[in-house]
Amino acid sequence: MKAVIAFSGGMDSTALLINMVNNNYDITCISFDYGQKHKIELERAKANINYLKSTGHIIDHKIIDMTNSFEIFDSALLNDDIDIPEGHYEEVQMKLTVVPNRNGIFSSILYGYAISLVNKYNCEVKIGLGVHSGDHAIYPDCRPKFYESINKSFALGNWKSQNVSFYLPYIDTDKKYILNDIMTSCKILNIDSNIILKNTLTSYNPDHKGKSSGKSGSDVERILAFNSLGLEDPIEYIKPWNEVLLDALDTELRHHVTRENGTERAFTGRYDKFSLTGKYSCYNCNKLLFTSEMKYNSGCGWPAFHSEHDSANILRIIDASHGMKRVEVRCSSCDSHLGHVFEDGPSQFGGERYCINSVSLDFEEELK
Ligand SMILES: [Zn+2]
Repeated sequence: MKAVIAFSGGMDSTALLINMVNNNYDITCISFDYGQKHKIELERAKANINYLKSTGHIIDHKIIDMTNSFEIFDSALLNDDIDIPEGHYEEVQMKLTVVPNRNGIFSSILYGYAISLVNKYNCEVKIGLGVHSGDHAIYPDCRPKFYESINKSFALGNWKSQNVSFYLPYIDTDKKYILNDIMTSCKILNIDSNIILKNTLTSYNPDHKGKSSGKSGSDVERILAFNSLGLEDPIEYIKPWNEVLLDALDTELRHHVTRENGTERAFTGRYDKFSLTGKYSCYNCNKLLFTSEMKYNSGCGWPAFHSEHDSANILRIIDASHGMKRVEVRCSSCDSHLGHVFEDGPSQFGGERYCINSVSLDFEEELK
């Protein structure tokens, strides 16, 4: 059976390609040059097509120039005056990396090519896309409903559409599943998964040599996937793997604490046993919350403060979770969860203890 794949050169579409090679499809890969800042992904895409050729798998590869159309679009992935956001892949600032209607446009072209193949060969054609659930939070054009809907619309608008269908094997799975699928398919095909993975690019902000930053949302998601399988990513990062991994784990923990009301484990936070002089701000929005004069050693396992800064306006909310009645504290500026406030603090300062997660805070030292 014939297949047409949107092949970016990233990990997801590469996994899809290997998956479909393994399932004996006659494949055309289509890569889009749409003016993306991380254009080096197209070179990686070519490298994997060449590697597959050297192992006896011949793939038709077309690179389509869409730069003229996309240069009028607005996205951090396209415009030099918008920086690529860093952090967790589900954070709201990642919406800057949305390219408006990108998957709708790409799917449209793939569909047109698929119908052309049907006309020419009177065959069935699968359209393969590597969209997955990690994309769902930020990219509405990666969600199942969107594909159900465009499949219906395209079918209504084309003759012989009964011969064309979408193949989205990852739409309900995550990056870990995708990585596992690459490893499995490579093993069955007897090709080197390390070479395949090294030829992929996931970072939205690689340096000029193509080394991944480890900081963009897509980087963090990829690093965590490798870690969850106990693997080291073979691609080059600007820092050694152990540092890149620690940063990604930190980002994940921060997302869990500040956005999902999580709590870091006692005695593990950076600012627990920490007594430098300076200012503590909200990590996510930089609002000044505490100073080191307000910090004291409570021995509870988390940074403790007896007072908040005059301008902090920290929000207090009754928290009845975990069978307790506690007072939760959140940043008044960006609504990040910070921790809780208890009434066992030092009496000379009012008797309160702000029990705050280290990952919710950013510290700036005051140099004398
Ligand atoms: Zn904040």
